[in-house]
Parts: sequence; structure tokens; C-alpha cells
Amino acid sequence: MECIFCKLEKGEIPAEIVFENEKVLVFKDINPQAKVHLLVIPRQHILNVNGLEPENAQIMGEMFLAAKKAAELAGIAESGYRTLINSGPDAGQEVDHIHIHILGGEKLTLLN
Ligand code: AMP
Repeated sequence: MECIFCKLEKGEIPAEIVFENEKVLVFKDINPQAKVHLLVIPRQHILNVNGLEPENAQIMGEMFLAAKKAAELAGIAESGYRTLINSGPDAGQEVDHIHIHILGGEKLTLLN
């Protein structure tokens, strides 16, 4: 079965896209855990942090620049937000396509 974020990237499943360029896509999380909950994905399929290779260094930079842009567009750049990446079962990774969560729009509680 094909990766759902690859399908989303191709427009085969719907998404509320808030920012995109030729390398990355930022869209609203379908099950938000904060008032603002966005996901940044690379257009290319990478599993998670364990799947990163030296040639992926640039795309990770592109993802964080897109996170900064999306936070500005969402109006949470000044109030603050959290960026996080889950890798593997103990972190609760559900979708095996690397993504940065952007959480904000309210005071966040601390993670373990
Ligand atoms: P993770 O647990 O880090 O793998 O996070 C996966 C995230 O993807 C969860 O927060 C889900 O709510 C979100 N998600 C899953 N499917 C979709 C979708 N079709 N559109 C938007 N967000 C999704």
C-alpha cells in the first residue's frame, strides 16, 4: 500500500495546504493536538530520522525554513510554537514519511 503522505503530495487524497514549494508541503493535521497543528513533509519519501542520508541534509533545512514560513502565515511566530519529529514505535510514529509537527496557538504542556 502506498504511503498516505506520498498520496497527499500527489493530490490523490485531500489536504488543507497552507504552504508549498517545489521541495516541501505544509498542511493542517487532520487530528489537531493544539489550536494550530501543521505538518511539514518533503515531497520525496524519507522514512523518518533513521532514514536520513547525507544527501538529505538540504531537504531538512528546506523543511525547517517551511516550518518558519508556515508559523508566520499562521500568526504564531511571535507567540511561539513547538516543532517535533517522531521516529519509530516508541515515539508513536504513525505515518512512515518523515514530517515535522508544528504545534502552537496556545500555551503548550511539556512532553516527556
Ligand atoms: P506521527 O504520529 O508523528 O506519525 O504523526 C502523524 C500525524 O499525521 C498525526 O498527527 C495524524 O493526525 C496526521 N495525519 C494522518 N493522516 C493525515 C491526513 N490524511 N491529513 C492530515 N494529517 C494526517
